[in-house]
Amino acid sequence: MQTYKIIIKGTVQGVGFRPFIYQLATRFKLNGTVLNGTQGVEIVVNASNDKLDLFIDTIKKELPPLASIDTLDVERIASKKFNNFQIIQTNNRGEKTVNIPPDISICKACEEELFEPQNRRYGYPFITCTHCGVRYSIIYDLPYDRVNTSMKFFKMCKACEEEYKNPLDRRYHAQPIGCWDCGVSLELVGRNVPIPTIVDEAVELIKQGNILAIKGVGGYHLVCDATNEEAVLKLRERKQRPTKPLAVMVKDMQMAREWGEINADEEKLLTSIERPIVIVGKRTFRPTGIAPNLSRIGLFLPYTPLHLLLLTKLNRPLVASSANITDEPLATNRESIENLSNVYDFLLDHNREIVNGCDDSVAMVVNGQTIILRRARGYAPARIELPFTLEKKVLAVGANQKNTVAIGFNKQVILSPHIGDLDGIESVEYFRENIENLKRIYGFEPQVVIHDKHLNYESTKYAKRCYGNRTLGEVQHHYAHILGVMAEKKITEKVLGIAFDGTGYGDDGNLWGGEFMVCDYEGYKRVAYINYFKLLGGAKAIKEPKRVALSLLFDVYKDEVLNLENATTKAFTPNELKTQYLMWQKALNAPLSSSVGRLFDAVASLTGICQVMSFEGESGMRMEELYDASISSFYDFRFKDGVIDILPMIKAINEEESVVMAVSKFFNTLVEMIDSIYKLYNLPLVLSGGVFQNRVLLGLVLERIPSAIIGNKIPPNDGGIALGQIVATLKS
Ligand code: ZN
Ligand code: ZN
Ligand code: FE
Repeated sequence: MQTYKIIIKGTVQGVGFRPFIYQLATRFKLNGTVLNGTQGVEIVVNASNDKLDLFIDTIKKELPPLASIDTLDVERIASKKFNNFQIIQTNNRGEKTVNIPPDISICKACEEELFEPQNRRYGYPFITCTHCGVRYSIIYDLPYDRVNTSMKFFKMCKACEEEYKNPLDRRYHAQPIGCWDCGVSLELVGRNVPIPTIVDEAVELIKQGNILAIKGVGGYHLVCDATNEEAVLKLRERKQRPTKPLAVMVKDMQMAREWGEINADEEKLLTSIERPIVIVGKRTFRPTGIAPNLSRIGLFLPYTPLHLLLLTKLNRPLVASSANITDEPLATNRESIENLSNVYDFLLDHNREIVNGCDDSVAMVVNGQTIILRRARGYAPARIELPFTLEKKVLAVGANQKNTVAIGFNKQVILSPHIGDLDGIESVEYFRENIENLKRIYGFEPQVVIHDKHLNYESTKYAKRCYGNRTLGEVQHHYAHILGVMAEKKITEKVLGIAFDGTGYGDDGNLWGGEFMVCDYEGYKRVAYINYFKLLGGAKAIKEPKRVALSLLFDVYKDEVLNLENATTKAFTPNELKTQYLMWQKALNAPLSSSVGRLFDAVASLTGICQVMSFEGESGMRMEELYDASISSFYDFRFKDGVIDILPMIKAINEEESVVMAVSKFFNTLVEMIDSIYKLYNLPLVLSGGVFQNRVLLGLVLERIPSAIIGNKIPPNDGGIALGQIVATLKS
């Protein structure tokens, strides 16, 4: 018999790992201890060699559902005597490297208890156990113990405490544990109804067509009955969101199928413990107010007991939109939700503080691959393991749109949940909070801070302002896009990276976004790009596809455009056309761009699909609708000296009579472009950038080049930039 110390790192805290070890040790009749250290779980046991091997094998084989092991190290230590096996209390010395589990959905066992009339938690909207529920959103600090969460304000009742302290109970050390007597409670603000009937009352109010603000896991939702067209329009009006698609929460898979066309991969994603919003095909007979002009719809399943109760009682789908107004962060506390009191009719609140805000995640499936469009609840802040060890502690502040931030140390990167666009004072404040949250939880202080090359990004300004006294580094936007995917996929060889993007500051000061780059961690070489065109009106051109199209028409037809009649020119008055022509001629307020995102806009305008966008990405989404897979032809493009000339295509599109033909051939042309340049380089192909959120384009490229690599954990949009920024430091 020898004494061994086993250190296990990975997702091993807050997932029922210690009671699992306790039960296993009891089964194998091993004596010793287990504890949660800041480095991971530490087990000390007395065992023979054979038994130790068997014990370790069984740990790996029978792991609790949410746990995962990254490393397991065993060493023999000076022999110690134990009379039993014990779970000993947490120490919190040392460096904090354990993984925080994300907030995950309610488990089957809790769901059953929730609807079991004789259970003492029957109908309790915050029922939870070691295998489910909130985590990241309630953590102040590591290690993950109740005193370090916003549950510390609730004193457990006797019955809960017994469960909490019993290693054989499913709720052993379930930090958010509570019940009707001692836990979190609901409040329907301004309505004096007894607590147990609050959910019923809320359901009644929703049925009557009211808009409710409801506090969830990482923030508030604005909800209304999805079958009530009037309520949906009221929500759109009050939220000032005329056409952007709204997410719909459905009771179960059956209801999901009544609304969406769902394949097996999509069902798996919908029912996964992360419960993201999944973009699926929409049944055509469904109300148009949810996703106007689109054949896709975002569906998700209830992920908390409260949502389950609401949906079960309502038995109708619920529009559940993040509670924020354009450009502002998600509301996470009473004060911020009350700023939206003109949007909702009633507020369903609860008294557990949201420590770390976290939006719903959004995902889709393309050619069997999961593509994360917004990485937040359920996924964040789970860590991403790197193919290398970082020499320094690095903070990356991300881009300006769809911002996320990341911290990197040792061999890992912790990526924050989706923060959003840094366009207002409030969102920059929310961005700052997210950085502070990560620093606090992980006890992290950066030695190096990395930002985008764009000096006007709020994230860049913040890095310079707050960390100017530390080593700062800048990374080109599209290189960061490609590096992010390389890091996620642990790619260490040279790749051909294609970044098709909305925008990003290029090395020459122009706005890049149609880039072909040969990349490794040392650096990159831009081997091809879409020839520059002028963005007439600068930032205005980003919202107005007609400006981009007009500029390209000037490139092709010069002043003849003034007498040209097409969808684009019709969107301007004759005087405006003349002014725009002068701007184009003199290159006034007309930055150069190679962006494929803008090229999509131009085609949307030329074909009359969209002249001015009401939400970001609208033109691409509407073009997806028109793609005809039976059309295989494409337009000519010229590729010479690394420059892709698209003017022949623009001319041809302008002359095309059928919109479907123009759109389909445009998609096909992009695929040909990618394929032909891919063939010139015998390198693995990596795809990134916001344009690859386009389901049709991505699907076509993956069909043509099945080996093409796209991120599955980080979004193709700027939400993946922070990860790329961190690994860019590897070269130094
Ligand atoms: Zn549970
Ligand atoms: Zn209790
Ligand atoms: Fe980007």
